[in-house]
Amino acid sequence: MNFETVIGLEVHAELATKSKIFCSCPTDFGAPRNSQVCPICLGHPGTLPRLNRKVVEYAVMAGLATGCRIAEFSCMDRKNYFYPDLPKAYQISQDAYPLCLDGGLTVEGDSGGKFIRIERIHIEEDAGKLIHSRDEILADYNRCGIPLIEVVTAPDMRSAAEARAFVSELRTILRCLGVSDCRMQEGGLRCDVNISVRPTGSAKLGERTEIKNLNSFQFIEKAIEYESRRQIDILTAGGTVRRETRRFDEQTGTTHTLREKETAADYRFFPEPDIPPLRLSPADIEALAARLPELPAARRKRYAALGLPAADVHILTEDRALSDYFDRAIAAGKHPRITANLLLSEYLRLSEGESFSCPVAPERLAAVADLAGAGTVNASTAKKLAARLWEGDFDPAETVLREGLGQICDEGVLREGIRSVFSENEGLVAQIRAGKTAAAKALVGKCMGRFGGRAEPRLLNRLVDEALKK
Ligand code: ADP
Ligand code: ZN
Ligand code: MG
Repeated sequence: MNFETVIGLEVHAELATKSKIFCSCPTDFGAPRNSQVCPICLGHPGTLPRLNRKVVEYAVMAGLATGCRIAEFSCMDRKNYFYPDLPKAYQISQDAYPLCLDGGLTVEGDSGGKFIRIERIHIEEDAGKLIHSRDEILADYNRCGIPLIEVVTAPDMRSAAEARAFVSELRTILRCLGVSDCRMQEGGLRCDVNISVRPTGSAKLGERTEIKNLNSFQFIEKAIEYESRRQIDILTAGGTVRRETRRFDEQTGTTHTLREKETAADYRFFPEPDIPPLRLSPADIEALAARLPELPAARRKRYAALGLPAADVHILTEDRALSDYFDRAIAAGKHPRITANLLLSEYLRLSEGESFSCPVAPERLAAVADLAGAGTVNASTAKKLAARLWEGDFDPAETVLREGLGQICDEGVLREGIRSVFSENEGLVAQIRAGKTAAAKALVGKCMGRFGGRAEPRLLNRLVDEALKK
C-alpha cells in the first residue's frame, strides 16, 4: 500500500520589538541570565500586564502580508499550564478570537506552485529557557514575555520539501517586513510539526503526532522524514498511531514520545481579565496596510520580468537590504541583468553581517553596468571596476577614459596581437593544430593577456579560432 504524508505547521516567530509584550523589559538576545526581568514578566502577584502597541502592529502587518483577514475584535486568553519555564503558571495567548484569520501563501510545492492555507495568526508571550546541566536544571527568564506570533497552517503540506518551502517563504516575508529577525539558531523562529500519514487517495486524515520546537530547516526535514517513516511502519504492521507530542533528537535524527497530546480542555483557556479586548478599526488596519513594503513575491515577479535568471531572483529577494540596493542601482542605470551579475558576484561575498551592506553608491554600480552594457568595457574589466569601487569611490566612466580601460574591438589591432602571440608560442600552436584542442583556452588566455584583459572576448575567440585554422 502507498501512503501519503500530511503536515500542518505551527510556526512561532519572535517579534523584533525593543521591549517585551506586557512590560518594558528589553528583548536583546544574549544578555546575562535573568538580567532582563521584572515583576510583570516574572508573574508576581499584584502586577498588571499592558499590551505593547508595536506587537499588535507587527502581527497585523504579518497577517496582511500573508493574505489574512484582520479581526476587528480579538482578545487575549490565559492558557494554563505548569512548567518551570513559565513562572506565572499560565501563558497569555489568544484562543477563540485570534488577531488574523484565513490567509495563506503560495510556495514551491512538489508539483509546481502550491497554496498553503494559514488558519490563524495570533499573538502570545514566550516562556523562559531551561538550561539542563549535569545534576540541576537552571532557569533563564530573560525570554519570558518576548512577543511571539504563532502562525498555524491547515494540514496542506505533503512532504518535507513543502514544509521547508512554507517556513522559508514565511521567514523571507517576516524579515522583509522587519517584524521579526527570524534567527533560527537563536530560537527566533521555531516550528511545531503536526504529521500524519494515510493511504494515498484516502479522504480521511490519519491520526497525527506533533513534534515540538524544531529550530532549523534541516531538523524540520529530518524530523518529518523520520516520523512519516515511523508511522508508515506502524500502519503497515497493522498497528495504530497514537496521538502524542514528540521530541526530535538532533543527535540521532529520531523522534521520541514526550507526553500524551494535551487537549484544549487541559489548558483551561479563559479570557485574560487584565487585558481588555483588542478593537481595531478599518482605518487602523488601512494605516498598517499602507506601511507594507513591496513583498518578496511581487519583487520576484518584477525581477523575472527584467529577464534575471531564477537563481539571481531568489538570492536578491531573500534579503530586503540587498533587494533595496539592487532597486536603487537599476533605477540609475539601463542594464539590470549586468547590474545583478556584478552585485551578486562582486559585492555579496564582501558584505558582512546578516543583511546586505555595501559602501558603494548604487549609482556607481549602475554606471559600471552601463559601461559594460554599452560595450565600452568588457565583462572582466567591469568586475575589476566594481571591485575597485568597494575600496574607494571614483567615477567609472572617467577612469576608463583616463586609464585606457576601454574594450578593444578593432579587428586589425586584435589580429596583430594574435600574430605575435602565435609566433612566441609556436609549440603550443602546433599542438593545438595537431588536435590537442583543450590547450586552445590557454592560448586565448595568452592573447587576452597581451591586451591587458581588455579585448572583446567573443571577437578575440573567433579571431584566434580563425588564425588556428590557417
Ligand atoms: P490542536 O487543537 O491540537 O492545536 P489544531 O486543529 O489546532 O489542533 O491543529 C494544529 C495543527 O495540526 C495545525 O497546523 C493543523 O493543520 C495540524 N493538523 C491537524 N490535524 C492534522 C492531521 N491529521 N495531520 C497532520 N496535521 C494535522
Ligand atoms: Zn519584564
Ligand atoms: Mg490549535
